[in-house]
Amino acid sequence: MADFHKADIEKLMDGVLPWPATQDMLRSPKDEDRFDKYVEILQSRVPWDDQILLPLTPMLFIVAKNGERLVKCKCGQEFGDYRVNWKLSALIHVRDDEKSLSEIYKGRELPDPRWTQVREYICPGCGSQLEVEAVPRGCPPDFEFLPDLDTFYREWLGRPLPDEAEYVDKTLDTIKEWS
Ligand SMILES: [Zn+2]
Repeated sequence: MADFHKADIEKLMDGVLPWPATQDMLRSPKDEDRFDKYVEILQSRVPWDDQILLPLTPMLFIVAKNGERLVKCKCGQEFGDYRVNWKLSALIHVRDDEKSLSEIYKGRELPDPRWTQVREYICPGCGSQLEVEAVPRGCPPDFEFLPDLDTFYREWLGRPLPDEAEYVDKTLDTIKEWS
């Protein structure tokens, strides 16, 4: 088996979404080492020390911090428990009229603003655009990726995390607390 050097991993990482990149690296047995190198590279690219458990997007990571698992931006901004959709803690810019939509869509591509809105999720810490979604009006924020962290570490990497926790979407609990 070809040796996966750190530089190769680094190349593979750039321009690829984190989860497919992770899966690519773990296709054959004994590949856990690649994942560790991958995380090592990610860790060297962020200015903080909290342990990265899994990258979510090129900007966002699930980290271990004081016994909790949080979503954290490259810049250090924290978005709370990873089982709650991080978008609830982001700044949201909504395009829902012809004028604002026509800034990003041209001519016939322009969606009908009566039905569609585009939401841009912005990090309150660094102002980076973290995600964009085009959804029907009134549709709740899409929770794209809630990874089963414990199964991943236990089954794929063969080393369970010390603090196994319930794998459940807690987004609605948070929304209930608001009312
Ligand atoms: Zn940020």
